[in-house]
Amino acid sequence: MNQTDIAIVGGGLAGVALAEQLQREGVDYQLFEARDRLGGRIESTDYDGARFDLGPAWFWHVQPRLMAACERLGAGIFEQFSEGELLFEDSVRQVHRGVGFASMAGSLRIEGGASALIDAFARDLPRARLHLDAAVQSVSDRGYLQLMNGSVWQARRIVLAIPPRIAAQL
Ligand SMILES: Cc1cc2nc3c(=O)[nH]c(=O)nc-3n(C[C@H](O)[C@H](O)[C@H](O)COP(=O)(O)OP(=O)(O)OC[C@H]3O[C@@H](n4cnc5c(N)ncnc54)[C@H](O)[C@@H]3O)c2cc1C
Repeated sequence: MNQTDIAIVGGGLAGVALAEQLQREGVDYQLFEARDRLGGRIESTDYDGARFDLGPAWFWHVQPRLMAACERLGAGIFEQFSEGELLFEDSVRQVHRGVGFASMAGSLRIEGGASALIDAFARDLPRARLHLDAAVQSVSDRGYLQLMNGSVWQARRIVLAIPPRIAAQL
């Protein structure tokens, strides 16, 4: 039987940030992520020589813990460029120009895209503790985790770092 102290289900920002904290504190943990990459809803991609955030992109000065994490991990931040007018393409691929306002003034961005923060959190985590393609099928009150790939783990504590509607199904 595979055993660990803390099992983290989900490798989005919440799960990866927790793993990084437990790693620093010397606590035994394992992280299980359903997809083949970390980041969850956070994903940045390269296109035509530029880097784009496909999901979360902005944060604000009123989020001091995120600011502190960026500073501690060496993730550069910069202020959102917000002069001029917003240009965007909607879900039916129509491009809107000159809508009369700029966007997200006063917000902050992460250099290299939001996924650079995920990379920074994961940088020093042992790969053996990060299980990708490892969807958790069910969890039990007694600390058992059944994975879709057939393996079973037992943990002293299980942290569900996944959306509540998915957690409710486990
Ligand atoms: C389009 C969009 C734009 C956004 N923009 C912003 C923004 O600009 N600023 C901002 O602050 N917030 C923004 N948000 C919100 C932000 O994305 C979320 O608050 C944040 O990413 C949630 O992180 P999380 O780790 O809690 O969850 P998630 O990112 O959802 O991570 C959960 C992880 O759990 C995994 N998982 C699910 N089920 C299982 C299972 N059974 N077993 C194992 N793994 C599982 C998933 O694959 C996923 O990787 C935006 C969201 C979206 C969708």
